[in-house]
Amino acid sequence: MINSYFLKRFIDVTPANFDFHCHSTVSDGLLPPHAVAERAAANGVDLWSLTDHDDLGGQGAAREAAEALGMRFVSGVEISIEWKDRPIHIVGLGVEVVHPALCGGLDALRSGRLERARRMGEALAAIGIPGVFDGAMRYVTNPSLISRAHFGRYMVSIGIARDLPSLFLHYLTPGKPGYVDHRWATLEEAVGWISAAGGVAVVAHPGRYKMSGAGMRRFLDDFRDVGGQGIEVTCGSHSPDHVMHFARLARHYAFHASRGSDFHGPQESYVDLGRLPALPEDLKPVWRLVI
Ligand code: AMP
Ligand code: MN
Ligand code: MN
Ligand code: MN
Repeated sequence: MINSYFLKRFIDVTPANFDFHCHSTVSDGLLPPHAVAERAAANGVDLWSLTDHDDLGGQGAAREAAEALGMRFVSGVEISIEWKDRPIHIVGLGVEVVHPALCGGLDALRSGRLERARRMGEALAAIGIPGVFDGAMRYVTNPSLISRAHFGRYMVSIGIARDLPSLFLHYLTPGKPGYVDHRWATLEEAVGWISAAGGVAVVAHPGRYKMSGAGMRRFLDDFRDVGGQGIEVTCGSHSPDHVMHFARLARHYAFHASRGSDFHGPQESYVDLGRLPALPEDLKPVWRLVI
């Protein structure tokens, strides 16, 4: 009896397909939260988190839609930080969505985005591409959340580049004319807000940061020292080599491992919701900390 009770509990709580990283129109995704939920469920996701950039505004609608579709939902956010002058993203999972420190910190990040977007517009005007701030604003779906993705979409629409990856490569990445430095949250602030709000901090898409091995270890040392607990191992922008590399680092730091598509929209993302390889089996999946 006892064994079958525990077996049933185990089966009940073990997700077959979790996706803990994606975006809706509350940040720079193309679908509203309920439509992201529908697509996740249609793709077989059974445990899901919506992680919009710097904004928790979609969490209520996402949870409601997820639960109506039979998925379990974990609250989430992707926080923009800078560490040693590098932009990095930290995902917060299982946070209390009305926590004052977290919400206050995210409010400040969003207003900084508007001022940064104006400076991006000026920088692009200075190289002969005027009107991009106003154009990008036409792609914004949450008036308080403007991102480089909106700039990219507008600039592709007027023929500056043929697609988003080449547009980013030539205009919107560090060293390129439309990129402006910006003061995001610190690592300590972001992990502090997430922890204060009862959540778990996870390094988003570590394979995208172009850090040396030693640089990544210094970053992960700092992340662990301020209370970080997880790292994305399987994600939309990771190659099989990245998965092996970050699995090794997850073991080394005893971090929990996360899995997330970083889905932004049907035509735009490398990977659709839930369509990712499983995590290496020996890793501790991060969902254990948040459900
Ligand atoms: P931001 O938070 O304003 O710095 O913008 C970052 C967002 O820009 C990411 O979350 C993606 O939505 C988008 N982005 C960044 N790099 C690329 C890229 N190489 N190709 C397409 N979209 C990108
Ligand atoms: Mn984005
Ligand atoms: Mn990101
Ligand atoms: Mn993301």
